[in-house]
Amino acid sequence: MHLVIIGNGITGVTAAITARRLRPDARITLVSDETAHHYSRTALMYVYMGHVRYHDIKPHGDWFWPENRLELVHATATGLDTSRKEITLSTGEPLAYDQLLLATGSISRWAGWPGQHLRGVQGLYSLPDLEQMARDTHGIQQAVVVGGGLIGIELAEMLHSRGIQVTMLVRDNRYWGSVLPKAEAELIDLQLRAHHIEVKYRTELAELLSDKEGRVRAVRTTAGEELAAQWVGLATGVTPNLALAEKAGLETDRGILVNELLQTSAPAVFAAGDCAQHRQAGADEVPIEQLWYTGRAQGETVAHTICGQPTPYRRGPWFNSAKFFNLEYQTYGRVPAEPVEGEESFYWQHPTAMHALRINFRPGAGYAVTGMNSMGLRQRHEVWEKWLRAHTPIQDVLRDLGAANFDPEFFRQHEPDIVQQFNKQYPTAQPVVLKQRKGLFARLLSASGT
Ligand SMILES: Cc1cc2nc3c(=O)[nH]c(=O)nc-3n(C[C@H](O)[C@H](O)[C@H](O)COP(=O)(O)OP(=O)(O)OC[C@H]3O[C@@H](n4cnc5c(N)ncnc54)[C@H](O)[C@@H]3O)c2cc1C
Repeated sequence: MHLVIIGNGITGVTAAITARRLRPDARITLVSDETAHHYSRTALMYVYMGHVRYHDIKPHGDWFWPENRLELVHATATGLDTSRKEITLSTGEPLAYDQLLLATGSISRWAGWPGQHLRGVQGLYSLPDLEQMARDTHGIQQAVVVGGGLIGIELAEMLHSRGIQVTMLVRDNRYWGSVLPKAEAELIDLQLRAHHIEVKYRTELAELLSDKEGRVRAVRTTAGEELAAQWVGLATGVTPNLALAEKAGLETDRGILVNELLQTSAPAVFAAGDCAQHRQAGADEVPIEQLWYTGRAQGETVAHTICGQPTPYRRGPWFNSAKFFNLEYQTYGRVPAEPVEGEESFYWQHPTAMHALRINFRPGAGYAVTGMNSMGLRQRHEVWEKWLRAHTPIQDVLRDLGAANFDPEFFRQHEPDIVQQFNKQYPTAQPVVLKQRKGLFARLLSASGT
């Protein structure tokens, strides 16, 4: 079998490594036009900030690929003939396959603003984007970031690390308003202000203005304000990269349409990761998953099917995490930005420090937890996944909150406070008594058999 994979991101590479394990005899070829070797896209920002070098964000040494007989082709797949089972490469050469995986990822989504192609205006998705950003932000004073999502705030932090004054334009009336409840958004706003990032809410980009050399010099907002900027980051979201799939006439919608085995409309052609759209997403599931860990899970799953072990893709409860400057954020399950009928949202926030915990639950369904947001408190993925899958009552979750606690000695001091607030806020619910856990000293004694 010759498996050809288009895209060497987390999805393509996980599929290749899994397929190698399952089929030692298979020929496997990875085609990618971005970089010769796989790297961790999520760590791009740390390269710009000088914490690591590009070399450090490659999870595998360059020897790994020949040693595992994974052939790498650094080129663009420009054509796909599904009846002849053949790819055309930008080098002009054809590449025949028995099985094909499209793992072509996403591309930045722009709204077609006047001036968006000026020098100094760009998105951040790829390593070439990062290199261009490094060149174009060298020595500048002011930048504007358009978009109040995860990449927007990353850009703000990156620019801030180089002493560049940043203004963010955010369409909503709060940060990441479509995703975060107001209280969490306010904590992030505090982080932004503490780092001297100016945020203009309810403000959109109208146009980008050029200097005499064709480089951006300012933006004009929809409020008519002109803001000086020698660099502008457009972080208004990403959309599945459909270029190759559309050329080949595969069925697409916003993404490449796949069934639960991640098969596309053409025989022997699969799609996974950011570029795929699930035809039958469940009630609480999004049809297009644009995350690192879902890419890895889809890559692993599809490799099983390709290698003769048909395996439906099941994601399980939603999970995401991010870091907003110094503030860590995790979310499990479903926590809508606005309240939902039939659901209660318990929220605790430390009076002075940047720690908060929100747990959503359904009183009418045995107080079952439906989702959690944590800010500045690290939680254990496997524990929350278990609680959510089992529809655990919030009282049981709070009683045993320590089990989900990633930094026990640090977070523990907040547990009594959290429980006390819940008991006060929900006097009709069964009161919670915190489970006693052994302290570090007692644990050390018991581990040593004393
Ligand atoms: C700056 C940034 C920060 C992020 N941070 C996080 C985070 O903290 N947590 C998180 O969960 N997610 C994060 N994400 C999202 C996450 O990185 C993506 O969901 C994930 O990388 C998608 O993986 P993928 O393999 O499906 O696609 P990609 O990583 O996009 O890989 C696809 C590859 O295919 C190549 N390609 C496409 N078409 C062709 C073609 N025709 N021929 C050859 N090659 C082709 C592309 O150039 C690309 O290299 C971040 C994304 C960005 C941009």
